[in-house]
Amino acid sequence: MSNPTSPQIQPAQVDAPAKPASFTIVCEVEGFPVTVEVEGKADALKLMIARLKDIGAVPPASKPGAKAESRSGAPLCPVHHSPMKASRKPGSFFCPKRLPDGDYCPEKA
Ligand SMILES: [Zn+2]
Repeated sequence: MSNPTSPQIQPAQVDAPAKPASFTIVCEVEGFPVTVEVEGKADALKLMIARLKDIGAVPPASKPGAKAESRSGAPLCPVHHSPMKASRKPGSFFCPKRLPDGDYCPEKA
C-alpha cells in the first residue's frame, strides 16, 4: 500500500487588503548608503524612486567601482537586501551596511 504524502499548501504570502505593502529602497546619495522605507502601493514606490533620483541617489549595484559580491554562498541581509560580506571567520558573513542611526548592521549569517 502506498503512503501518499498529502501536499501541504502554505501560502508564502497572504495579501491582506487593508495593509499597505512595504518597500525598502537601498541607494546611495553622494556615496552614503541610504535606506528608505516606503509604505503604500507601487505608485508610492515609483514616486519615491523618482524623488531619490532627483537628489542624485543611485542604486548601490550601479556604482562602477562596486565589485560583484554575488558569489554563490553570500546570504542577503534581511534588512538591506544586499549581499553580505564574508568575514574573516570562514563560513560566516556580516552586513557591511550601516543603520540609519549610524550603528553597523547587526545582521550576521
Ligand atoms: Zn544589513
